[in-house]
Amino acid sequence: MKGWSETELVELVRRLGSAAAPGMRVGIGDDAAVLEVPRGQELLVTTDLFVEGVHFRRRWLPAAAAGRRALCRALSDIAAMGGEPRFAFLSLAVPSASGLQPSASWVRGFLRGFAAAARSFHVALAGGDTGSSGSGALLADVIILGTAPKGTAALRSGARPGDLLFVSGRLGALAAALDSGRRPPPIHPRLALGKHLRSHRLITAMMDLSDGLSTDLNRLIRESGVGAEVDIDRLPLAGTLQQALHGGEDYELLFTVPEAGAGRLPRSIAGVALTCIGRITSGRGAWLVGSRGRRRRLSPGGWEHAGNT
Ligand SMILES: [Mg+2]
Repeated sequence: MKGWSETELVELVRRLGSAAAPGMRVGIGDDAAVLEVPRGQELLVTTDLFVEGVHFRRRWLPAAAAGRRALCRALSDIAAMGGEPRFAFLSLAVPSASGLQPSASWVRGFLRGFAAAARSFHVALAGGDTGSSGSGALLADVIILGTAPKGTAALRSGARPGDLLFVSGRLGALAAALDSGRRPPPIHPRLALGKHLRSHRLITAMMDLSDGLSTDLNRLIRESGVGAEVDIDRLPLAGTLQQALHGGEDYELLFTVPEAGAGRLPRSIAGVALTCIGRITSGRGAWLVGSRGRRRRLSPGGWEHAGNT
C-alpha cells in the first residue's frame, strides 16, 4: 500500500479495537478473543463478504461510508434473527497491484468508519486481520456475533398458510439511486424493529432483504414449505416496480404475521413503517397479483450485485 506497511495497518486495527465490552474477557491482542455468552442466550453468528467491484466501488462512497456499509450489511442479518449484535470481527485484504492500491488515508478512513459504526451500534470490535490481496480488489470479511434468548431467534422456516406478509420501509432505493447515477443510500440495519417483532412474538418467520424481494421471498417460502401472493398495488416503492422487485440491498425486513395477530401490529415500529404486501398460501411458488386479480409468477430476479450495474 502506498506509504504504509502492513504492520502499521495491524496496529491501527488494534488501536480501533474495543478495550472493554460486556462479556469480552479478551479482545484484540491475543491469539483469539475470549467471549462469554450470557446465561439463557444463544449465539447468532453471521459472516459477510464485502468485495470491491461486486458489492461496492471505491468511487461511490467516501472511505468511512464504505467501512460503515461493510458493518451494516452484516448487522442486518442479526436484525433478521431478532437478535442483539455484540461482537464484530473484520478481516481486510488490500490490493497490492500497482495502480489499484488505495491510498493509506482511504484504508485508514475505511477502518475508522467501520469502528465508529460499531461503536454507534454498541458492537465491540473484538478481532481483526489485515493483509495484501493478490487481486486488484479490496475485500472485507465481516463476522458478527449476536445473541438472542434461547429458542426465540426468528427463522425463515415458520411461515404458515394464511399468515400475512409484511415488509419494513420502502423497496428499491439502492437500485433507483444507482440507475440514476446517485450515491447508494446508507444502510439502516433494522435492529430495534427485528428485536421488537421477535420479543413481542408477533411473527412466524423473518429474513432481511439483501438480494431483492423476488429472490428473497422465494427463499423464505422454500424454507417454510409454503407459497405466497404479493399484491402489486401495496408494494411500498422507493423507485420503479422492477427496482422494488428485483433491485437488491434494501436491507429491510420481510416477515410473516398470523392473521389473528395482525391487529396487534402497529403501523410503524422504531420509526420504520410496516406494510402488508400480501399473504402466505398453501400453494407453491410466489405470485404477483395485479389490481384486476391478474396473477403472474414472481421468479427470483437474478439480482446482479450493484457493482455490476
Ligand atoms: Mg440475510
